[in-house]
Amino acid sequence: MEYLKKLYLETIGIDYLPGGVPASNELTEETAPRFATLQDLRDEMGDCRRCALSEGRSNIVFGVGSPEADLVFVGEAPGRDEDIKGEPFVGKAGQLLTKIIAAMGLTRDDIYICNVIKCRPPDNRNPLPVEIDMCEPFLKEQLGIIKPRAICALGSIASQALLKTEVRISQLRGQFHDYNGVPLMPTYHPSYLLRNPGAKRDVWKDIKAVMDLLDLPLPRHVNS
Ligand code: URA
Repeated sequence: MEYLKKLYLETIGIDYLPGGVPASNELTEETAPRFATLQDLRDEMGDCRRCALSEGRSNIVFGVGSPEADLVFVGEAPGRDEDIKGEPFVGKAGQLLTKIIAAMGLTRDDIYICNVIKCRPPDNRNPLPVEIDMCEPFLKEQLGIIKPRAICALGSIASQALLKTEVRISQLRGQFHDYNGVPLMPTYHPSYLLRNPGAKRDVWKDIKAVMDLLDLPLPRHVNS
């Protein structure tokens, strides 16, 4: 409990201990995960009431996939379908993400999928900065426990939250950025692709860069 207080304070920019947050954002003992397993972290989250989103949710959408995944996809927030099922990316955008994962020659069980915030915002509005700040320690811990070799941030909210920047997704995508020593590729959100299918070409470029980094072969049936 105490450590989460520390993470919350650090996240919103307040020093908790004399000396405060390490100058670099490299993974150090200060920023190393405090929980051994994702289940321990989920237990800590419990029936979370840390922010007002808890009042309108049906289920906490913690994350799914392999706890040893080399690749983690991070989305924005659960939508209606995800809230009902308690699982990320199961609606229309989720089905497209599942196709992208299949095009990589992988299944949802090979990777890990989660969101920046774990509860559905009302009417699927964008998460508020305060909601992102409250939930971010859990995301940070998830990534610290899994220790993926790469992260793919889906859309501007996830990319900007993880990279602590306001730079637009169109500028961020297409190259790796550093997230606590882990290469992070921002790309367009699958919901954006549903509205703008022409952007699929850019997403495939980003995904192929991730596959290259992870030494994943291009499946035969997929056009390069
Ligand atoms: N959009 C997201 O960002 N996350 C989900 O889980 C579903 C849709």
